[in-house]
Amino acid sequence: MTDFRVDGAAALEWAARYLERVGELPVLAQVKPGELSAQLPLSAPEKAEPFANVLRDLDDLILPALTNWQHPRFFAYFAVTSSEPGILAELLAAALQQVAIVWRASPASTELELRTVDWVRQLLGLPGGWHGHIEDTASTSTLAALVAARHVTGRNAVVLSEHAHSSVEKDARMLGMEIRKIAADENLAMRTDGLDLSDVAAVVATVGTTSFASVDPVRELAERAHAAGAWLHVDAAYAGAAWICDEERWSQDGVELADSLVVNPHKWLLVPADCSLVWTSRPDEWREAFTLTPEYLRTSDYVDSLPDYGPALGRRFRSLKLWAVLRCYGAEGLRAIQREHMRLARLFAEWVEADPRWELAAPVRFSLVAFRYAGTDEENEAILERVNRSGEIFISHTKLDGRYVLRLAIGNARTTEADVRRAWEVLNGV
Ligand code: PLP
Repeated sequence: MTDFRVDGAAALEWAARYLERVGELPVLAQVKPGELSAQLPLSAPEKAEPFANVLRDLDDLILPALTNWQHPRFFAYFAVTSSEPGILAELLAAALQQVAIVWRASPASTELELRTVDWVRQLLGLPGGWHGHIEDTASTSTLAALVAARHVTGRNAVVLSEHAHSSVEKDARMLGMEIRKIAADENLAMRTDGLDLSDVAAVVATVGTTSFASVDPVRELAERAHAAGAWLHVDAAYAGAAWICDEERWSQDGVELADSLVVNPHKWLLVPADCSLVWTSRPDEWREAFTLTPEYLRTSDYVDSLPDYGPALGRRFRSLKLWAVLRCYGAEGLRAIQREHMRLARLFAEWVEADPRWELAAPVRFSLVAFRYAGTDEENEAILERVNRSGEIFISHTKLDGRYVLRLAIGNARTTEADVRRAWEVLNGV
């Protein structure tokens, strides 16, 4: 059993110490598949244990099997930060255990969610009148958007770029919708020539693609989608966060015409996973696609409840961490961190461009650099394996026109210029 105060203090100390020394740990877990499983009991204990045993095993068993996403030299996928105010708010959300299945079940969770999501809408410069709520991930947010699009249009096809995130295709597949992948142009943006949208339910435009952070022509896609009676969903899961910076609003062109939009504060706004915001400019129609109130949830004080806007009924208090992060950093603090990440990405790209042994694979957008060693695919793959195995940095890869490309994504609040410089040295075998 636990002594909440004593064990709580020890757990907080563990977390604080972890965050202090995470930069000294290997970034990528150095264990082999199954190594942890072999050390875990096959069944749950019959007798209660002290919480101290859990903390001990966290050190002995779990820590070596962690890939440390909080590490300042985590540059793979999209690097993220779970910031301290967000961590504390997660603790409190678990203590409060609000399950917002209907307004009266948690007025606080329902109303704080609506308000904080609207704060983010304003910070990103999005139009008024949009309805937003929180889902767990962009995969679920886009799933909900496709459900709404199908409901509104009565059609079944989804159009997306070859560079759209795999979650869009997976969502469409789960819904039994037809997938139409469109080739990208030389800017890695969805081509629009010859696009026939006459029987299309939804066009999904991406702002900040996963591989290259490229940007689809949202305005043109929105205009063409609407002319053809289709829904326009924008996936800005990563890059949408950058709209808090005026100089990145170029990538928002046409987003004001969207029927729905997803942005993930758990990617680049310092909020612990999971926190994905989805807005719609057509809230009444969107709601029609989801609302289904069983008798036991009909109450005299029934007002709009958030389960009416998505798949989940029992929704946890995610807005608490969003609220805490927005208040404890302020928009100013968040902008400063993003601007530093973008500066570091441009700096790294300059080193790549200045060295004939390396080349950029795509223009640098936001805080992502796609680059490659000017050699064979096998050499690039070997470099990736070597640097990740070193535990000093962690990067990931993608392919462009069949060629192997390395990606350096900057998104951790602890990352400094020295970390990016170290990444360059490790890549160069120094
Ligand atoms: N969309 C884009 C552009 C992404 O980069 C990602 C993940 O990196 C996703 C969607 C999926 O996000 P999630 O893990 O929140 O489902």
